[in-house]
Amino acid sequence: MYPRKFEHVSVRTVEEALDALETYDDAELLAGGQSLVPLQKTRFASPDYLIDITDIEELRYVEEDENEVRIGALAKHTDIQQANPIQDHVRLFSECIGEIADWPVRNQGTFGGTLAEADPSGDYLPVMKVLNPTIELTGPEGNREVPFEEFYFGMFTVDMDDEEILTGARLPKLQSLVPDAVAVGSAYEKHAERSGDYALVGVAIVVGVDTDGLVTEARVSVGAVGPLVRVTDAESVVKGTTLDEDALNAAATAVEKTVQPDEEGSEGEYKEAMAGEFAKRALSSAYDRATEEL
Ligand SMILES: Cc1cc2nc3c(=O)[nH]c(=O)nc-3n(C[C@H](O)[C@H](O)[C@H](O)COP(=O)(O)OP(=O)(O)OC[C@H]3O[C@@H](n4cnc5c(N)ncnc54)[C@H](O)[C@@H]3O)c2cc1C
Repeated sequence: MYPRKFEHVSVRTVEEALDALETYDDAELLAGGQSLVPLQKTRFASPDYLIDITDIEELRYVEEDENEVRIGALAKHTDIQQANPIQDHVRLFSECIGEIADWPVRNQGTFGGTLAEADPSGDYLPVMKVLNPTIELTGPEGNREVPFEEFYFGMFTVDMDDEEILTGARLPKLQSLVPDAVAVGSAYEKHAERSGDYALVGVAIVVGVDTDGLVTEARVSVGAVGPLVRVTDAESVVKGTTLDEDALNAAATAVEKTVQPDEEGSEGEYKEAMAGEFAKRALSSAYDRATEEL
């Protein structure tokens, strides 16, 4: 099916984009088009105007400062995955992006479009939940910053007005999340029906360890199984352990008890069990990576 007729408005700066949003009613921003265009083709979205922001070069960057990695809204998935600051300091994000669809989608889809879309089965969400980055927005009233925890309301719903643009975000470097640890490891594990599909389960983990290999702090989040959750009970049970079999099983049980799948009956039970299993796998990988650094 073809999209309903619309007018294409091209902009080259954030200012021009804000002006266009104010000028045109019933307008949508076009970034990578990976979610919006299919929605137009199926007529779930039929804006009168598409404000094409793909040429705003000032929003395409991945940079670092002392404690944070800064990502512009128009950085493509592949820009982020390959960027040294991400590989060196936020490894699980690079791993998560490697799980998104395929090369064509990763070459087109953007950081800002993905955060704005907030698809509950998307791979970004569990990673953002453990990192809690600062989201940067701009609008007619000026600039605003919101922690991810407050930005993300729930499936497909975020704290952003129609006339605002998401310009970027600042992600904490992993070491700054676990300041007492001597080494840090992270992992993202995804369970999908087929390779490249949206997640049935997505688990993001950050683990800090001391010189004896004891876990000083852990962050565990699960997406795509009902509401996006941080599993604090799993984080507590692994603290002070060397992540032996008992600790892993206790964490998996905590995950299974916390997630609330939308599906009922055996399908829901399956997703709970997979959430526990993939949490174990991700915890083991993150822990191994942390202790390799000792
Ligand atoms: C076949 C296919 C498979 C996919 N599989 C996965 C997957 O496995 N995992 C996964 O996580 N994702 C997956 N995706 C989604 C992909 O990651 C997209 O990149 C993402 O959902 C949207 O990004 P985009 O840049 O294409 O946004 P667009 O489609 O251009 O825009 C999406 C929405 O965000 C708004 N928007 C865009 N940029 C901004 C901005 N800067 N400020 C405010 N609003 C903005 C748009 O107006 C629109 O409403 C898949 C997509 C496709 C087509």
